[in-house]
Amino acid sequence: MAKATSWSKPVTKALRAEGVRVRDIDTAATPGFKGDKKAGEALLADRAEVLSDLQEKLYANGRSGDTRSVLLVLQGMDTAGKGGIVRHVIGSVDPQGVDHAAFGVPTAEERKHHYLWRIRKKLPRGGQIGVFDRSHYEDVLVVRVHDLVAPDVWGKRYDEINKFERKLVDDGTTILKVAMFVSLDEQKKRLQQRLDRPDKYWKFNPGDIDERAFWPQYQEAYQAVLDRTDTEYAPWYVLPCDHKWYARLAVTELLIDALQSIKLDWPPADFDIDEQKKRLAKA
Ligand code: AMP
Ligand code: MG
Repeated sequence: MAKATSWSKPVTKALRAEGVRVRDIDTAATPGFKGDKKAGEALLADRAEVLSDLQEKLYANGRSGDTRSVLLVLQGMDTAGKGGIVRHVIGSVDPQGVDHAAFGVPTAEERKHHYLWRIRKKLPRGGQIGVFDRSHYEDVLVVRVHDLVAPDVWGKRYDEINKFERKLVDDGTTILKVAMFVSLDEQKKRLQQRLDRPDKYWKFNPGDIDERAFWPQYQEAYQAVLDRTDTEYAPWYVLPCDHKWYARLAVTELLIDALQSIKLDWPPADFDIDEQKKRLAKA
């Protein structure tokens, strides 16, 4: 069995966004982790159980009226593996405790509203782990890269997002934001698979090939996100994703860390335990 000591430093330190240059990210690296794929997968099996127990505690508290929650924001280019994180990491916890939301091209209805309108509607309730597959950050990423609104409009959004997240944190949500990066080559391989394998056709979107031409502009837009919205209350983690096993293990550890930081106990009984035991004995 792989040991937790396979980490040479805590994942929260190994992946912190502070000072990261997006263009220099080694997407094939496994920061902070000393083992190989086999060790990583073995450790993940253990750690998924730890995550699941912590999540149950959060959920139990939510059922008892606790309003605290966790929000995991997943941002990344197509094929970075956001869906895999949802299936393999979030999939290891009880689905009743997960508020999952994916954000695609805004609908006609969504376009009538402020860009945070659709986000607010999907925020996690007390006791839940919210997972955003894409997020409000699209409004300073794809929107910036493709001039979907004027620069003075998207330019104001960084500060606005910081304020929005500050309020969420003050209201009891622990936010962790994960920026997922694959190399241009790895993306090509993954898109190729989507064209070669019938079980992957459904993920293929011809537009993903066009987006490859905008890679430098996306890197610049991601850099601005990290520079302007990495805060101490809602930190960004930069996740190299060429190795899926590493990405999944690292996000599991990040969630464990976030849940442990909430310092949860099991909610106390709201009934008289002895009395109920006596009643049960006679029932
Ligand atoms: P997928 O996650 O593969 O289903 O793709 C969703 C698509 O929606 C991506 O191409 C995103 O860039 C796009 N998208 C998400 N949010 C926005 C937004 N606010 N404005 C424009 N496009 C968006
Ligand atoms: Mg896609």
